[in-house]
Parts: sequence; structure tokens; C-alpha cells
Amino acid sequence: MLAAMTSIDAAARYPHLFAPLDLGCCTLPNRVLMGSMHTGLEDRARDFGKPAEYFAARARGGVGLMVTGGFSPNLAGWLKPFSSRLSSRWQVTPHRRITDAVHAAGGRICLQVLHAGRYGVHPLIVAPSAIKSPITPFTPRALSGHGIERTIRAFARCAALAQDAGYDGVEIMGSEGYLINQFLAERSNRRRDAFGGSAENRMRFAIEIVRRTRAAVGRDFILIYRLSMLDLVERAQAWDEIVALAKQVEAAGATLINTGIGWHEARVPTIVTSVPRAAFTWVTREMKEHVTIPLVTTNRINLPEVAEDVLARGDADMVSMARPLLADPDWVAKARSGRASLINPCIACNQACLDHVFENKRASCLMNPRACYETELVDAPVAHARRFAVIGAGPAGLACATTLAQRGHAVTLFEQSGEIGGQFNLARRIPGKEEFAEPLRYWGNLLAELRVDVRLRSRADAATLQAQAFDAIVVATGVTPRDPRIPGQDHPMVMGYHDAVMGTREIGKRVAIIGAGGIGFDVAEFLTQVPPSPATDVARWTREWGVDTSREHRGGLVKPSPEPSPREVWLLQRTAGRPGRRLNKTTGWVHRAALKAKGVKMVGGVTYEKIDDAGLHVTIGGNPQTLSVDNVIVCAGQESNRSLADEWTAPGIAVHVIGGADVAAELDAKRAIAQATRLAARL
Ligand code: NAP
Ligand code: SF4
Repeated sequence: MLAAMTSIDAAARYPHLFAPLDLGCCTLPNRVLMGSMHTGLEDRARDFGKPAEYFAARARGGVGLMVTGGFSPNLAGWLKPFSSRLSSRWQVTPHRRITDAVHAAGGRICLQVLHAGRYGVHPLIVAPSAIKSPITPFTPRALSGHGIERTIRAFARCAALAQDAGYDGVEIMGSEGYLINQFLAERSNRRRDAFGGSAENRMRFAIEIVRRTRAAVGRDFILIYRLSMLDLVERAQAWDEIVALAKQVEAAGATLINTGIGWHEARVPTIVTSVPRAAFTWVTREMKEHVTIPLVTTNRINLPEVAEDVLARGDADMVSMARPLLADPDWVAKARSGRASLINPCIACNQACLDHVFENKRASCLMNPRACYETELVDAPVAHARRFAVIGAGPAGLACATTLAQRGHAVTLFEQSGEIGGQFNLARRIPGKEEFAEPLRYWGNLLAELRVDVRLRSRADAATLQAQAFDAIVVATGVTPRDPRIPGQDHPMVMGYHDAVMGTREIGKRVAIIGAGGIGFDVAEFLTQVPPSPATDVARWTREWGVDTSREHRGGLVKPSPEPSPREVWLLQRTAGRPGRRLNKTTGWVHRAALKAKGVKMVGGVTYEKIDDAGLHVTIGGNPQTLSVDNVIVCAGQESNRSLADEWTAPGIAVHVIGGADVAAELDAKRAIAQATRLAARL
């Protein structure tokens, strides 16, 4: 069926996605823009071989146009000390490795010019006014009039240097709360000169940058302006100001306008898994009637059918995706050739991409550990195909089995349950984590494509495996829930998170959750949301988070109206302090805010005394109390399930242990998939 589908069928299926786009200076082959994303590869000019291959792989994969991570036009605009910058002629040459590699692969690439303004994490930062941002530790210096002029010149010079370096264009970063956006909003601009006060004055900086950049690079060079269409912060732009800016950006010489959604300091999530797909494309559509140049829309567009729908509705002329192309460099080629079902999906978890960037680590992808490691995580040559048994079809086992099979080995995958996916089968049932079903779709199709021998409901013991004479065994048997050893835990009101999430037990109206790690938070969301999940309903989700779709309110904000929880929930941990501190950097605040909005009582410093008919008896801050609950759900972490490996005795057959079976503490899919892929690439 898959093989029979031709690229003509695919073009018919995604006619808008694969329609060429004439930009005047060139024609793009499709409507996919690989959006800018800082990966950390930009920060090391000596190592530009790595980003060269990273971008070349995506160019080979057919993306229409790419944008690099941000490069600062001067020192003050650094994101952090010694981060990416393009301001001098001597910095041009290394970029040729990137542009040559992309052009040799048939692609096009723009350099993003990004001045961090008050978002820079270093003492040299500048801004329109000396107002510290709530998310960075330094207070900026207010730019003088001369400083503004020098900064505008620096933008234009950076673009000219990018042109010399062989880029096809630049993107001027005017959104997400960076310097240009800071000029546009009263929130961060209290100037009284020609660059502050009235809306006309506040947008002068942006327009001058576009105008002078166009003058510096000439006509035949792509100039994208990333325009903040929804600031999602208070005292920000009004819609009529945003429209006026877009019109002037067009008049000043932009080729394309890309959509920016939300400042980094916004308290409305914009890209995490629980944001509905294509949740913000409506705002780009609102802009379409006001400008004539093509508009690019963005945020939570991850699969071809989502992109096609957005374009077919007329919301935009192009779609921008950054993370989905990290997850699968061949996204476009697969969609075009009728193999969309084999696209490795971005699940919007941020775990290996944005979380890494904010921790000053190189970005990668949970679903694709080769992302940004294209020159390092490479398959070893296979002299002779061998026979492997992989035990356990959770994320580790699936990544291992498919990577081994892609290299030509014969793989048998044993799974004792009736479905592949392991912990992802729980995750996909959590409201806001529906995306976790996509990897299972992907791995399922890939296993079939690669003819992996998948044996469901098949418990592999040592004797069976030894009898089948495999060359090597990979144990990916995952984890078992930790026993919290609380007196009375065998009471009928107590259940494990597996039973709770799989719906095998009725759950009452008052519930205590023991353990406030990632799974405790997931279970709390599961208990407090009324189906269907708001993540599948844009209108409901925007109401819950207070996004103004009427365009009447500055910043695009209204009062959030979360729906009440159907249950009263306590989320408990023994460690002192508020639960959720150890959740991931870019997503933890969303989970904490969502549960707070549902009235979940998150309590740390709890001692569990016992469970009986009266409920859960605890001591908090020295005070004994009884939580009179209908159910207690145990989410107390995991222990490795590696008995198969421990009992293995067959000499001459190598046994490898991966994923949660190897280390259960801090178990997560990112580590499991990376470990599995690295092992399978060298076996
Ligand atoms: P976890 O993050 O290690 O949390 C375990 C929780 O159980 C902690 O709150 C811990 O807090 C408590 N605990 C540990 N031993 C206990 C005991 N003997 N008795 C009672 N409570 C105990 O484990 P998890 O929640 O199972 O999550 C596993 C992994 O899945 C996470 O590390 C994460 O990588 C991944 N995950 C992440 C997310 C997310 O980020 N949203 C969601 C799901 C899963 P105290 O010791 O303070 O009581
Ligand atoms: Fe997408 Fe997660 Fe990969 Fe980032 S780490 S690209 S969010 S799947």
C-alpha cells in the first residue's frame, strides 16, 4: 500500500503544501520553512562542519527554505557571552561551509539576525529602557540615540555580511520579546525621544532596520521579518499597531513576514505538547487582508495533514516548522513521496531541544538523537548481518529494534503486552499529551516496513532465547512501579498509576496522589480535566489560558477562564518545598500553572503514616492530619526490571541492557531512546 503510493498521489493529497512559491527573487519548491531554532551549533565557528551537515541533511530532505539559529549583529546583542555573532568580515568565511553544503544539497538558507536586548544573559545588555526582564538576571542599559543608530547599522551590516557568506537571505528577529519587540511595547519602552511614546515612534526602530537592511543587500535577497502578531504579555502592542507595523515592514522591503507568537516571558504556553495543533494560525489569517507579501504561520504544526489544512484554509502562504525538522530531516521528502506515515514525529516535549538550549547544552531531539549529531552519531558499517533479539517494545526497545533493522540486521522484537509503546501508552492517554500516540504510529509503520519480526504477548525467557540462537540480546524490559511501603497500602482505595490511567478502576471525587514526579503531575492532569482534552479544541484551550481572539485587547490577553476540576486532588511528595521544581525547564511551569488553575493542592514535606477507611493519614510540618479521600494513587517512581539480564547464563551471546531496565532513576524517554540508538548504531 505504502510502496504503491506515488509522488503524484502525494502532491494530490497535499496540493497546497507542494505548490511552489514565487518570491520574486527566487521560487521556492514548497511551502515549508524550517524555522529558526538555536541549537548551540551556531556558537562554535571552528566547528561549523557540524551545522553544515545538520542543515545539508534538511536541504536533502527537501525543505523549501531554512533559517539558521540567531546571530547577533553586535556584542551587546549576544544571547550569552561568546554566543553566535556576525559583525566582522573575519567571521564570514566559516559560514561558507554552511551555505556551500546547503546549496550543494539543493537547498536555500537565510541567516537570522537576532539582537537579544534585555533577554541577553550577560552584563553588556542594552534595551530601549533600563527595565529588567522577569526572566533574566541583568538590568539592561538604555540605548542612547547614537546607540540606536549604531544598532540599526549593525543589523544592516550583519545582513550584508550574511550575503557575502553566501546566504540566500536573512530573517530579522522582531518577535518573542527580543530587542526589536522591546521597542514596540510600552512594557519595555518608556523612551521620550523619537523611538518611544507613540506607536509610530515605537515602531521606528523596526522599520528603519528593515529599510536599511534592504538598502544594504539589494533587491535579489530574501528578507524575512519575524513579526510578533500576539505578544501575550501585558502593556504590549494593540492589534491596529501590529497591522500598521506589518504594512510598513512590507513597504520597507520585506519579502516575507513570519509570525511570532508570545514573548519568552509570557505565561501562556505557545509551543508545548498541550497547546493544540495549529492553535495560533488564526492570527496570521487575520493579517492576510492587510499585506500583499506572503505570510508564514507557525507554532504546533507538526505533520503534513496539519500543514496542508492550515494552507488550504488560507491561514498563511507558508508554514514554519523548526522542531519537526529536527525530529525528521526527511519530513518533506517523505510527505512528497507518499511516505508520510513514516515521518518521525515531533511530540513538542522540548526535552532534548529547547530544554537543552536553556541549560547551555547542544540541542538534539528526543525522537531523533542524531539531530545536531549528524557527523557523530553515525552507523558503523555492517560486514555481516546478524540476528538480534530485542526484549521489550517500549521507546528504548523500539528505537533499538528499528535502528538495528535499518542497518540490515535481522531483528526479533518480543513484547509481553498486546501493544507496542511501553510507557508512551500511558502518556498518550493524559490530556494534553495526545501527541505521544504519534511515535507509536511511526514505530509501528517502521517495524512493518523494515520487516522486524514483532512478537506481541510473548514473554521471552532465557531458555527460549538461548534455543533460538540469537547472536546478541538487547534487554529493554523497562521498569516496575516502586513499592512505597506505606502501612495499609493494600486497602481497596489504593491503586497504581497504571490502573488509574488505563481506566481499569473507578476513581472517586477526592483523590490523593503519592509522588509528585512527572507521572504524579500527569495523573493529576488526568484527574482534573473533563474530556475531551482542551488540547484538541483550540477555542476551549484559548479560553482556558486567556488568549484574546477578538483582537480587542493589548497583548492578546484576556482573563483566563479554566473549567473547574471534576475532582478535589492532593499531589504530595516527601521532599520539602513545592512539588514540580524538578520538572523540565521549558514545560514544568505549564504543568504547575495548569494544576494550580484546577485547584490541585500541591504539598511538599509530607510523611505518609497509614491508609485506612478514613483515608490517607499524613504528617505535614509536624501536624498529623487525615486526608479523607476516596482513592490514593501511587506514583512513587520506578525500579529497573532487569531480571532477564541478571539471570542470563548463556556464554558467547552478548547481552546489552538499555532504557529503564538499565537505570530506572530519572527514567526518561530521552535517555532511553538516545542510549538505544547509540548502541544499535554500533552493534
Ligand atoms: P520521579 O520523577 O522519580 O518521581 C517519583 C516521585 O515519587 C517523587 O515525587 C518522589 O518524591 C516520590 N517517591 C520516591 N520514592 C518514594 C517512596 N518510597 N515513597 C513515596 N514516594 C516516593 O518518577 P516518575 O514520576 O515515575 O517519573 C518517571 C520519569 O518519567 C521522570 O523522571 C520523567 O523523566 C518522566 N516523565 C516526565 C513527565 C513530565 O515531565 N511531565 C511526565 C511523565 C514522565 P519524594 O521522594 O519527595 O516523595
Ligand atoms: Fe520535538 Fe521533543 Fe524532539 Fe524537541 S525534543 S524536536 S520537542 S520531539
